[in-house]
Amino acid sequence: MNLHEYQSKARFAEYGIPVPMGKVAHTSEDAYCVAQQAGCAVVVKAQVLVGGRGKAGGIRLANLPEEAREHACEILGMRIKGDRVRSVLIDPAASISQEIYLGITNDRAEAKPVLMASAEGGVEIEEINRLRPDAIVREYVDPVAGLFDFQAVKLASGMDLPRKHWRAFGKIVAALVRCFEESDAELAEINPLVITEDESLLALDGKMVIDDNALPRQPQLAALHDSSELSEAEGLAREAGISYVRLEGQIGCMVNGAGLAMTTMDMTLLYGKSSGIGPANFLDIGGGARADTVATALRIILSDENVKVVLCNIFGGITRGDEVARGILTACEEVKLGVPMIIRLQGTNAEEGSAIINDAGLSGIYAAGTLTEAARMAVDAAGKAP
Ligand code: GDP
Ligand code: MN
Repeated sequence: MNLHEYQSKARFAEYGIPVPMGKVAHTSEDAYCVAQQAGCAVVVKAQVLVGGRGKAGGIRLANLPEEAREHACEILGMRIKGDRVRSVLIDPAASISQEIYLGITNDRAEAKPVLMASAEGGVEIEEINRLRPDAIVREYVDPVAGLFDFQAVKLASGMDLPRKHWRAFGKIVAALVRCFEESDAELAEINPLVITEDESLLALDGKMVIDDNALPRQPQLAALHDSSELSEAEGLAREAGISYVRLEGQIGCMVNGAGLAMTTMDMTLLYGKSSGIGPANFLDIGGGARADTVATALRIILSDENVKVVLCNIFGGITRGDEVARGILTACEEVKLGVPMIIRLQGTNAEEGSAIINDAGLSGIYAAGTLTEAARMAVDAAGKAP
């Protein structure tokens, strides 16, 4: 789960990281009031869960409350990388003398959190890494021993931070590590952390990603979840307990089990990649999924207009083949299929399932015996689709 900038910075502040004292506004009138109360120049910042807002025009400086209102009016409702802006953060403007990058995430290869710092902040870390990988200093945090003070010093000296800022920087590093760990975060990032003209450190931007699996034990963070940020399909999936991730391809995949779902996606790519065909989604209907869940899954898959064919790959274990078959028929009654569907059913009650499908005599539904056959048929159908 991604937190908005204002939520991340509020969390950082709880740990003692210095952040601007801003407020969120949902209307341009609100923005005007907040700017007036601030009584100084402000920045109006689009609150969307994507990066690069600055470049997209989602961050503007306003010297007067009237300007803040105008900027807010333009930014609210704007789309940034497809996300609609529903609120803006009004922060007192900072005068910047240097922008630094500071972030912490999990390094899977090392099986440890890794702190990253760079004197070339402001731009995205991927960009720094691509252009000047040497400009990033890294320190691994031992999960048992925790962070040592000398590690913050190594980061500071490694990025040539002026010595007078080391103490303040060390405090911020320690606070960020604690915030990351106690929030069950996958990422906690300050970009930019700035040195202001009056020589203090301030976290101007904040980004946190929380591990979804930890949300049950992080009620305070779970409550921040912004359901308006989910697409309709993702919202439906979440309600039905279906794991769904939309991708770019043409083959809508309905599978039970995450591993089998990934294998199915790989198989479509194996046969389709050379002709630009691949999976339209990851979808796991879960173990023991019943007819109504299958119907919901199909509806979710078909809500994606890129889908040219549905590939249904079910291995009956807990999930029974006949239940799945009935679910498919129910779904076909409710939603107009409109595209061909390839079904591969194996395992528990597979024969009963196949019989149910065959007896229904629906057109555009084809049975495949093996996953190889199913993947080839799906790629073929997607290739022929108008
Ligand atoms: P992002 O583009 O989505 O990462 O948004 P940021 O919050 O990082 O802002 C982008 C850039 O806008 C920063 O790197 C700064 O250069 C600039 N910026 C943001 N806030 C302020 C501010 O208060 N004062 C000034 N002068 N510039 C700011
Ligand atoms: Mn930023």
